[in-house]
Amino acid sequence: MDSEIKKLNDKIISCKKCLRLKNFREKIAKEKRKQFENEKYWGKPITGFGDIDSEILMLGLAPAAHGGNRTGRVFTGDKSADFLFKCLHKAKFANQSNSTNITDGLVLKNVYLTVALKCVPPFDKPTACELKECFKYLKQEIILLKNIKIIVSLGQIAFQSCLKIFDLKRKDFKFYHGARYRINKDLEIVASYHPSPRNVNTKRINQNKMVALLNSLK
Ligand code: SF4
Repeated sequence: MDSEIKKLNDKIISCKKCLRLKNFREKIAKEKRKQFENEKYWGKPITGFGDIDSEILMLGLAPAAHGGNRTGRVFTGDKSADFLFKCLHKAKFANQSNSTNITDGLVLKNVYLTVALKCVPPFDKPTACELKECFKYLKQEIILLKNIKIIVSLGQIAFQSCLKIFDLKRKDFKFYHGARYRINKDLEIVASYHPSPRNVNTKRINQNKMVALLNSLK
């Protein structure tokens, strides 16, 4: 791994700037979900993962309490990950269709996955202050991933985070699945519905729609 990204990731993993989030991620790691009671939870901030020479950055909001916060890897070990990786594999951005734990052999090609907020927030609702603090890491990631040409935001909050990072006005950018906006000569932002069980169950998103969006990025 690129030494600058590694340095940044080491810094992220040891970050305790947001006391509320530090306490929350550790509480979840201690209490655990019954299904995972024999596992050791990660319980720390999570870093990005994937191809550091990638042209595509996929951005989620934050790690899931019993997904990334348990396994230590973004979009790993929960239902959103199951859906997303089936689609990434179909679109040939991933070598396999599952993302279950950090030793599962997953490799991404031309995609780097990360989250706007590196710690799990209570009720999936970070404060403006926590987001602002953590955006500093995301901005550094975007600078260090030198080949990035497209940022795909997974879900409306990740999309709005992306707009904030580039100081763009929300009213000028409508969120819908497949919306694409060129924000400067080097970078385009793309909106996607989040691969959450709720969106899948309500048929807001399905594999065909997600794979079509992924294929359109090539
Ligand atoms: S949310 Fe970001 S800034 Fe806040 S403690 Fe976690 S890693 Fe640090």
